[in-house]
Amino acid sequence: MKLAYINNQAFEIIKGETVLSFIKRHKDKNLVPTLCDAPNLDPFGSCRVCSVEVALEENGNTKTMASCHTPIAEGQYIYPNTEAIKDLRKNIIELVLTDHPLDCLTCEVNGNCELQTVAAQVGIREVRYPKGEDHLYRMKDLSHPYMTSDLSKCINCYRCVRACDEVQGEFVLSMSGRGFDTHIIKGLDQSFMDSDCVSCGACSQACPTSAISDVFQSKAIEATDTTRTICTYCGVGCNLEVSTSNGEILSITAPYDAEVNQGHTCIKGRYAFKFYNHPDRLNSPMINRNGNFEKVSWDEAYEYIASRLTSIKKEFGPDSIAGISSARCTNEENYLMQKFIRTVIGTNNIDGCARVCHSPTALGMQRTFGTGAATNSIEDIKETNCIMIIGANPTDAHPVTGAKLKQFAMKSGNVSIVIDPRRTELARYATHHLALRPGTNVAVLNMMMYYIISEGLVDKDFIKSRTEGFEDYKKEILNIDIDKLETVSGVSRNQVREAAIAYATAPNAMSFHGLGVTEHSQGTFTVIQIADLALLTGNIGRRGVGVNPLRGQNNVQGLADMGVQPHQGAGYFDVTNDEANKRYNEFYGVKVSNKIGYKIPEMFDAALDGKLKAMWIIGEDIVQTDPNTQKVIKALEATDLVILQELFMTETAKYADVILPGASFLEKSGTFTNGERRVQAVRQVVEPIEGSKPDGQIIVEIMNKMGHPQPDYTPDGMLEEISQIVPFFEGITWDRLGKNGLQWPVAKDGTDTQILHKEDFKRGKGYFEFHPWEETMELQSHAKDYPYILTTNRELEHYNCGTMTRRTANEELLKDDYLMIHPEDAQENLITEGDFVCLESPRGKVDVKAKITDQVNKGVLSTTFHFPEIMINMITGDVHDSEAMCPEYKVVAVRIRKSKGKFKKQLV
Ligand code: SF4
Repeated sequence: MKLAYINNQAFEIIKGETVLSFIKRHKDKNLVPTLCDAPNLDPFGSCRVCSVEVALEENGNTKTMASCHTPIAEGQYIYPNTEAIKDLRKNIIELVLTDHPLDCLTCEVNGNCELQTVAAQVGIREVRYPKGEDHLYRMKDLSHPYMTSDLSKCINCYRCVRACDEVQGEFVLSMSGRGFDTHIIKGLDQSFMDSDCVSCGACSQACPTSAISDVFQSKAIEATDTTRTICTYCGVGCNLEVSTSNGEILSITAPYDAEVNQGHTCIKGRYAFKFYNHPDRLNSPMINRNGNFEKVSWDEAYEYIASRLTSIKKEFGPDSIAGISSARCTNEENYLMQKFIRTVIGTNNIDGCARVCHSPTALGMQRTFGTGAATNSIEDIKETNCIMIIGANPTDAHPVTGAKLKQFAMKSGNVSIVIDPRRTELARYATHHLALRPGTNVAVLNMMMYYIISEGLVDKDFIKSRTEGFEDYKKEILNIDIDKLETVSGVSRNQVREAAIAYATAPNAMSFHGLGVTEHSQGTFTVIQIADLALLTGNIGRRGVGVNPLRGQNNVQGLADMGVQPHQGAGYFDVTNDEANKRYNEFYGVKVSNKIGYKIPEMFDAALDGKLKAMWIIGEDIVQTDPNTQKVIKALEATDLVILQELFMTETAKYADVILPGASFLEKSGTFTNGERRVQAVRQVVEPIEGSKPDGQIIVEIMNKMGHPQPDYTPDGMLEEISQIVPFFEGITWDRLGKNGLQWPVAKDGTDTQILHKEDFKRGKGYFEFHPWEETMELQSHAKDYPYILTTNRELEHYNCGTMTRRTANEELLKDDYLMIHPEDAQENLITEGDFVCLESPRGKVDVKAKITDQVNKGVLSTTFHFPEIMINMITGDVHDSEAMCPEYKVVAVRIRKSKGKFKKQLV
């Protein structure tokens, strides 16, 4: 055991730790004051407040050293608080205070200012130096809807600059000037609003004073309560610390001890919360009578729903009713919804938004590994040598993970491969960018596999011991037509070969994929190929490897885990399997159907065929988000009873017969499961706004009304039930979740699992499955008349159809959808920046504003889809993934022209 000493007392040292972390680990965390140090930043050693005396023998000659960046070494004697050190610290703080405004009592961070705290800690009663010049002339920056600065309060600790660099990787903040004039600038000495700031708030949280802050004054001490919960937006699952006073939310910060986000969030998690009490919130159940929505009591709404569902079931049978549950809701609510549909209605017609995003991931990974979930944890980025990002733009869609991937690509010196039609932010830093034509993922991955096999780079031992089907697979791969695939994909064979070799020769390689993989007619096959690539190279079952889908919505993993799928119930048991069926029957005490139910697109077809009579939709705006809007609207119009549980009057709400006001994530408790299988506690922060109810409680009350007794919705009670039917939840209890949750599968004793498939796969051996590339029917049928390919992308500021983010100040930052168009395409069509472009597909026409950019290749267009004013899904089509029926949003055949300047939303 190696030892060092604090005040001559021996303590064990850990390799790589600093003197400061050594002292903090063994003594009071506040024994040594700090200013420029922060929990999520690298040691910097600028302010010297953390100085200590260090000797090489007991009571020997000492040297004064900044403890935050001095590595601890065996045999060092540390004296943290000698009189000389105390004088030094006091002097440093006095000097800092000579030009600091003495307005503590009116400062927004009074009582929570680190400078104030350290000044008190080192014993400052007065400043001995004469008051010199100050920086009060520096103007406050209030230009931005969220970020603020008052640089007269800046103490030049660089924490904000380092947060912008080390945490977010944005480099917006830097230091300018010299000596007394040294000061922080944003961008090219611009305002926050004009700079490239992405409003992640890392600088505000890092700033020890109020020099950089936000409009919510997150560091003020007004809050009477703080509650730790989980972000509602994307599948990263960031932990949030929500401050409240008198039942109102004041601000959100990010806890440093969160394993998922380590003190970081994006603009949505930290700042986009004001939708929760927006005046647009639905505040009463409503029934549509003769085209008018009439407010009714909960009892009347329940009575209406129960009697209509009962009579529809009686007249047309259980399969005439369907439910669409929500990835926005908790696991417990999703579990209840599928239980309602399966046990009260008696059908497997239950599906959710995973259908339109990651259903191919679940299916493809189940086919290869037996389990349809991420194999590893995001933490593993620290231990990999290669990242491959395919069909994903994480810096916009999964920003906290995106920032980690960006740091890796920019600074690690390792391999980063981006396979994406667009030159995304990560593509700019990647060592390999394969800018393929949309719809050719399978072509490029087959080429990669060809080179890995033909160059002899496969992991023979892994293939032999852990996989099956390789020899047949190899034959097929070695027979592919490289000339053809090179032509159709638009990526040169050399580029593909280099990327393949880089992936295969990296000691550890991790892949990440998103909707650019799944939302294709060959989505499931692409997922299978990504999994095959990992099998081929032995990148499974240890840290820093694996297949890691970047889940879209906050709880899309949990939605499927809980059985919101028409073919598998809670815990992924096949509903057609006799044993599984028996298990469900015994558990629920009723006969559960063994017939596979409708997937969402099939629900629309069934409604149009007159077979589906009632649909209960929770928290999903299918009119705005599902493809082929006209068809969705017709299907809703053809359905006798549409029940909608929502926060706002969405586009879908307009077609509902009954509307039930649900509660947001801030108003209820439960669990969300993030993209790395981490089940985390969502804790109620405020009461539901008047007139609304937690969605789980609404389902319970309807179950009771329909004669199926169900106790009130409580997360602990529901988890107890779930743990009895879902095997990988066996050891999950509400109390065990703690601060950082548990990654499933969780054993009965509470042990969780960070890495899957260490020894074997759920299906036994990993299975190689070859699929040739095929042109999508969308292009086969329409490319001649509609020669451009339209794909879709998200922007950081908005989440999906923007129902929530458009009701926050995020809208001031991004007000419109836009269309990316290559300069040559723009020129050929006489389109200039900002013009409306008429996009026409075989389904309809929409006008979108042009953004001319070389981020897309010639012939390819890309559009955002956040605003209902431009219903992009009016032009998307009916083509689906051949296996999982996920719609092909990513390849739409269109033609373009400069529009006449008048915005129009026109159906063909
Ligand atoms: Fe929320 Fe995702 Fe942003 Fe984290 S990265 S704060 S989970 S939207």
